[in-house]
Amino acid sequence: KQAIVWFRRDFRLQDNLALFHAVEFARKQDAKLIFVFQIDPYFNRGKIELGNQYFFQAVHAFMKGCRSLGISFIIKKGDPVSSFQELFDDYPDITAMFLNEDRIGYGLQRDEKVKEAAEKYGISWYSYQDAHILGPGEVLKGSGTYYEIFSPYYRRWETLPKQPPVKLDLSLLKESAATYDLHQQDPILKVYHSEWRTGEKAAWEQMKNFTDKILYSYHDTRNKVHNESTSKLSPFIKTGAISARTLYFYVRGTELNQDGKNAFLKELAWRDFFQSIFARYPESRIKPVNSKYNAVPWRENREYLKLWQEGRTGYPLIDAAMRQLNQEGWIHNRLRMITASFLTKNFLIDWRHGEHYFSKKLIDYDLASNAGGWQWAASVGTDAVPYYRIFNPVTQSKQLDPDGSYIKTYIPELRNVPITYIHEPWKMDEGDREAYGCPSGREYPKPAVNHHEQRKLAIEMFQTAEGEN
Ligand code: FAD
Repeated sequence: KQAIVWFRRDFRLQDNLALFHAVEFARKQDAKLIFVFQIDPYFNRGKIELGNQYFFQAVHAFMKGCRSLGISFIIKKGDPVSSFQELFDDYPDITAMFLNEDRIGYGLQRDEKVKEAAEKYGISWYSYQDAHILGPGEVLKGSGTYYEIFSPYYRRWETLPKQPPVKLDLSLLKESAATYDLHQQDPILKVYHSEWRTGEKAAWEQMKNFTDKILYSYHDTRNKVHNESTSKLSPFIKTGAISARTLYFYVRGTELNQDGKNAFLKELAWRDFFQSIFARYPESRIKPVNSKYNAVPWRENREYLKLWQEGRTGYPLIDAAMRQLNQEGWIHNRLRMITASFLTKNFLIDWRHGEHYFSKKLIDYDLASNAGGWQWAASVGTDAVPYYRIFNPVTQSKQLDPDGSYIKTYIPELRNVPITYIHEPWKMDEGDREAYGCPSGREYPKPAVNHHEQRKLAIEMFQTAEGEN
């Protein structure tokens, strides 16, 4: 007998529910496990953007680690249903398939189709809710309906029992892995050069480092944008190098003050919440959850969109953030909030353009958190920021980056500009510009728009939509 373990975004050995149960199955049924990675063109059409580069880098590293334990992977490419049909034909002893399920989006539809194909071959399908601490449908109101507001969702989330991490016996894993001499590789799975580490070991180190050094003050400092204010675990969570479950139990078990811990666990709950909202509103990527704002008359402005994407709006904090995103594929939560707010409330551009851009660049891209975050910032989601509460990019800049060091890291043109002007470089006169190394012609751009004027227009835009209801 043989069974497939299909890895998709769970590239770890420990606390991986599908893998854990597959090894149990193999032990009891005397079956051998076949590890599969399927390269689906849906996810990587065209240029391999930053986000996907990191993903493939993580997959590559995981497979390399598995090989050192004597575990090979079969790599299939193309349409997922055809890929698995080929496998079922090539390995007629396959009787079961193990995977961690996708509950939303394309992944959900794909799984339904592959499941149907497997069942036609008489193959049993074992899928697990592994990606979230509590998945969609697990946190419901007494009436059995979904929560749409975070606070009551969270109160319920906190009280519900949670699946503790599972520990895999590596010797059992090695015994159960099918031995076939496959050193398959695909050119897509090469090492890209990223500053960001991948893999289970690095994820654990990062988690421990964070809990040792930052967690105690996380509730206070998480809104600063300097480098060490949050866990930066999101790329590991995205690739499954560590499970959200493990993180939850580890952090909860530390002996640190409750404030830091609670603030952090609440963020993990936001991740579950957005997943749940997306399951409830499957069109969240293209349609506002708050239907009142379906008719917001967003402006089409290619030129402004490009300025935003390239970090040339003339507002230093916004531009530094967009340049960091373009270079590294990750930015702090506050910066995601204010860049999203800037695109929608200062440039008056449809949030869907921004959501799409982030989806290409973020190495921690997550369908539900990204759509949820964008809908929140654009004021069109459930429990979103009210449309009239608009971030002022200068005030935010002074608050989040008081000494301007973050701005200077990503905007070399402003490196010598003193604190007096760093948040508002347009206030410099020609002499200052000359003195601080950004003379006319080559200097950092002037603001493309006036925040106060645009703020009024944004409010009018939302009022128009409200008037149409
Ligand atoms: P920490 O502060 O250390 O938080 C720990 C973990 O909690 C994160 O890794 C993440 O898994 C979860 N988390 C924290 N904040 C949120 C949140 N607001 N929503 C959902 N989960 C959260 N997060 C993504 O993982 N992928 C995305 O594509 C994504 N897109 C976003 C787009 C916008 C416009 C906004 C406003 C937020 C987005 N977020 C996204 C949420 C959040 O910004 C990131 O999860 C966070 O910045 C990751 O950094 P960290 O690991 O240091 O976070």
